[in-house]
Amino acid sequence: MPLAKCLLHSWATLSMVVTLAMPPADGVAQELPSPDGVLGITLGQLAAGDCQMVDLTHALNDKSPFWPGEDYQPFQLRTIATLEKNGVSSKAFAMPEHFGTHLDAPCHFEQGQPTVDEIAATDLFAPGIVIDISMQSEMDADYRLSVADLTAWEQAHGPIPRRSIVILNTGWGRHWTNSVRYRNQDALGKMHFPGFSAEAARWLVKERSIRGVGIDTLSIDYGPSQDFIVHHIINGAGRYGLENIANLDKLPARNFFLLLAPIKISGGTGGPTRLFAVQPKNK
Ligand SMILES: [Zn+2]
Repeated sequence: MPLAKCLLHSWATLSMVVTLAMPPADGVAQELPSPDGVLGITLGQLAAGDCQMVDLTHALNDKSPFWPGEDYQPFQLRTIATLEKNGVSSKAFAMPEHFGTHLDAPCHFEQGQPTVDEIAATDLFAPGIVIDISMQSEMDADYRLSVADLTAWEQAHGPIPRRSIVILNTGWGRHWTNSVRYRNQDALGKMHFPGFSAEAARWLVKERSIRGVGIDTLSIDYGPSQDFIVHHIINGAGRYGLENIANLDKLPARNFFLLLAPIKISGGTGGPTRLFAVQPKNK
């Protein structure tokens, strides 16, 4: 089970990060490094389930929306063994790499950048922040996050932590179970949903050294994009993207960590990803 393996791998990474960052002082519980000096979660709390974990992953099925491109297929699942006939229940699935909640590896849009299996495990655990542009997106389906939105967010919530993952909550996640609405194609087939602007993507890479970006739509570029400039900027800087993220309305603006477990396909340009947010309980 590759996903399970990836997850275990990421948990091992989590333990390593904690151990390296906070060596035990006097036998007391070790704390996760805080992205901003506020958040502290002990390993004991994590092991005891005494923290809040939000699953940011959509479940996959044959109704899941997908990119309307050539050779993109719906999710396929078939039974290859049953308890009645074979004494074991087992299935096989097929899907494009860029399907459901997934990661875009840096090689997705740029030459010479890491494939999904080459992304360092230590880059799959990071502080996260959420920027809510659901109001703007409600007014304008083609809305793009601006640098002014970023500076306004910082004024309200403080600086974006270095090496964090910046996620846009556009409100689009609520359309997930309706493919037609989620794609929002016009009469010419052009899609309409919000995304990052090129300026905002450049600013995040240059000014805040982010690890990656994420969104609750089909693409980090807005729907009508033809040049996929945001993908080029993010991937060209060796950073990754996360698309079709679920449950963003359950996250605060900051003070949580993200745990990513992308499927480890040799030479993959990305892949389905189990994505969790970890935060203190009752915060
Ligand atoms: Zn993708």
